[in-house]
Amino acid sequence: MSLSLPFDNSYAQELVGLYTPWQGQDWPDPQLVLLNAPLALALGLDAGALRSAEGLGLLAGHALPEGAQPLAQAYAGHQFGGFSPQLGDGRALLVGEVLDPQGARWDIHLKGSGRTPFARGGDGRAVLGPVLREYLISEAMAALGVPTTRALAACTTGDKVLRQFGPEPGAVLARIGASHLRVGTFQFFAARGERDKLRLLLDYAIARHDPDVTGAEDAALQFLERVGQRQARLVAQWMGLGFIHGVMNTDNTTISGETIDYGPCAFMEAYDPATVFSSIDRMGRYAYGNQPAILFWNLARLAEALLPLIDTQEDRAITRATEVIGRIQAAYQAEWAEVFARKLGLDTPDPALIEDMHKLWQGQNVDFTSFFQALPAAALGESAPLLSLFHSPDGVETWLERYCAALPDPEAAAARMRAVNPVYIPRNHLVEEALHAASFQGDMGPFQALLARVQAPFTPIAGMERYASPAPADVPAIVTYCGT
Ligand code: AMP
Ligand code: MG
Repeated sequence: MSLSLPFDNSYAQELVGLYTPWQGQDWPDPQLVLLNAPLALALGLDAGALRSAEGLGLLAGHALPEGAQPLAQAYAGHQFGGFSPQLGDGRALLVGEVLDPQGARWDIHLKGSGRTPFARGGDGRAVLGPVLREYLISEAMAALGVPTTRALAACTTGDKVLRQFGPEPGAVLARIGASHLRVGTFQFFAARGERDKLRLLLDYAIARHDPDVTGAEDAALQFLERVGQRQARLVAQWMGLGFIHGVMNTDNTTISGETIDYGPCAFMEAYDPATVFSSIDRMGRYAYGNQPAILFWNLARLAEALLPLIDTQEDRAITRATEVIGRIQAAYQAEWAEVFARKLGLDTPDPALIEDMHKLWQGQNVDFTSFFQALPAAALGESAPLLSLFHSPDGVETWLERYCAALPDPEAAAARMRAVNPVYIPRNHLVEEALHAASFQGDMGPFQALLARVQAPFTPIAGMERYASPAPADVPAIVTYCGT
């Protein structure tokens, strides 16, 4: 079976000078570990051909098919608040773009494909555990309806890569995204004062993501607002799932509004706004409750990068951009209230009720996901399972009375809640168990079982209670590591 892809590489063709053409590394023994056949089908790609030797050449990056124009994208970024003027794809390649049967454009991108000129001190490699983590969590997010890059395949390379705790199997993740443009892509050219390239990049991004803004007198400003709206909607969705990205650097903040670069990310179990999972986030900069503030901070960095294109007079550009950021903050608050109103099955957002619910959770060790699983029954008058989630349920009954009074049709509300509140999320202890079995015992069974659950997150399955339960008390707190 021969592999033919309908490449249409706008980035390579239109943005010459904004990237470095590059090739993937050759591997001793590349093997396909996982192929996302339904995603391949949705893209109009032939899953059978992707499983062939030629398909492997694409998915592991060592032998790219006709029409690919592999390149490493340049970008900068604020990492934990400090600016790095040159990051870029140090271990990744944009292979090319394809149009799906609906005409939507998708990047095909490899992570772990070898060193590039942006690698700095890095080895250009990825290892199986983190590749599978990104595969699993991005697929869970997609099933939960959250905008995200998606995993097309995972391959092993056949060699061992040294990491913090010893050698691990080398791996490559093939993923797709609406684009890989980041806030940091704009920062790269802004920081170098390359105004023409910045303008080229803006025009490209607008054509790709906001074509209706093309040609507008205030296109840069409108673009900032669009990116902000998408990101506000995204982060509100994260908050509604207890998702913690872990590394909300500006190079991990997309223009498309998709979640990208799943590193030390995780879903919170016991509600606590200070929750972090990343070993390097010692100050809690990217804690659950800080994510909205960091989003606005990141958007302010995008605004800064765009200033010369917003207005030739800097004062005026700053005033106009500041107004936009203010509107995005308000839009985020509205999105957040909408997200939690849907989770509660309310017809209209009730911010006071929602805020008081968050106060109820404080210091109670309430499992975030279980609370929303217990809520439909509570709405129908069966409150014991919900009350049992609290250490001391003082005040919960009073809140429940207010809540029930806000539900004109509890049956309908319960049905709506079951459609939006997941039974299954990738719980950290299960993720760790699955990745450990895959990386160190060559056993993909636990991973496949967990993947099947999180790909159908709203459907409870009898006998699968383990996948819907918080970590047993004797499981140590999970920390995930960067440099993955
Ligand atoms: P990340 O933490 O994956 O978002 O990556 C941040 C930056 O570090 C990006 O420029 C990556 O390309 C680069 N990077 C991360 N890991 C490696 C690695 N093993 N080799 C080369 N570059 C890397
Ligand atoms: Mg990144």
